[in-house]
Amino acid sequence: MFYSLILFFLAAVAVFFRVKDLKVLRNDYKMNIASLKVKENKLKKNLHLVDKRFHGLEGRINETFFMCELAGKVSSVLDKESILRILKEEMQSLSSIEDIDFFPQKKKGYLLFRLETKPSVFMAVKVKSKQIKNNVKIIVKMANLCIEKSSLYKKLQTLSMHDSLTGIYNRRYFNSRLNEEFERVEKFKLSLSLLMVDIDHFKKINDNYGHLVGDVVLKEVSKIIKKNIREIDFTARYGGEEFVVILQETDKDGAIFVGERIRENIASKIIKAFDEDVKTTVSLGLASYPQDSRYPGMLLELADKALYRAKNKGRNRLEYF
Ligand code: GH3
Ligand code: MG
Ligand code: MG
Repeated sequence: MFYSLILFFLAAVAVFFRVKDLKVLRNDYKMNIASLKVKENKLKKNLHLVDKRFHGLEGRINETFFMCELAGKVSSVLDKESILRILKEEMQSLSSIEDIDFFPQKKKGYLLFRLETKPSVFMAVKVKSKQIKNNVKIIVKMANLCIEKSSLYKKLQTLSMHDSLTGIYNRRYFNSRLNEEFERVEKFKLSLSLLMVDIDHFKKINDNYGHLVGDVVLKEVSKIIKKNIREIDFTARYGGEEFVVILQETDKDGAIFVGERIRENIASKIIKAFDEDVKTTVSLGLASYPQDSRYPGMLLELADKALYRAKNKGRNRLEYF
């Protein structure tokens, strides 16, 4: 009996300690669960941050690709208006941009970027996220480079078409334009006249007054020719002291009238060159399409022949076929 009691007591002690152990274990377990929950929450938070960053990065990668594409599109364009149009159209497609337009002055509520146009224009951008601001700055820098390139191209184009002394078109441009004009008059069955104008004894002007005075005379003669033709007509410096004029939709009688007016205006003009008063005259040769020839090269040759005749007949006169 006594032994049974001891055994029972020992068993009770064992159970007591076991229960205690279990309680400790349960508490440990609860604590572990709690710390796991804290960790889970932390992980969730981090995951959310990573997600956010990923989306941010994705957005920035998309914007970078967008900028590369935009740079490609804009850099191949050479006129300013098209550059601005492409900029507007493309940037409107960006989700981070609410509105974009161009204004000559500042606009409230918009981020403003000055474009290097003349007169200057502001690119006004309403953004949904401020993050895009730096990208817009880069786009504006790129656009400004393209605008500068387009104006340099325009200057180069003007230089390659014009004579540097008189400012009127040069012979190269005249030749290409003459072919275009012939295509047009043939298509629409119009008339056209060609005048060759050559300063008489110009060498003597150079010899007597010097080349600088000669240059002023060339400029003045080109001005008088220009003044006596219409906007739709066209004059170019064909050689040293030789000019050519295309008179649109003008038959021979009309061209004789214009040619004579040019001749008289030059002959009566006292050209002021530095301290000198210079008088000069011109001889003119005329040929008309389709009356004299239907081919540009031939028409030029005929006008030149007529000019040669005007020289031979004593200068300061107009000859035609
Ligand atoms: P003609 O009446 O037969 O046409 O005689 P011209 O003296 O006008 O013709 P010529 O062909 O003998 O001389 C043309 C001169 O034009 C010679 C050349 O030095 C001069 N000349 C050509 N280009 C220029 C220029 O840009 N400036 C100046 N000052 N002279 C030029
Ligand atoms: Mg001459
Ligand atoms: Mg000549």
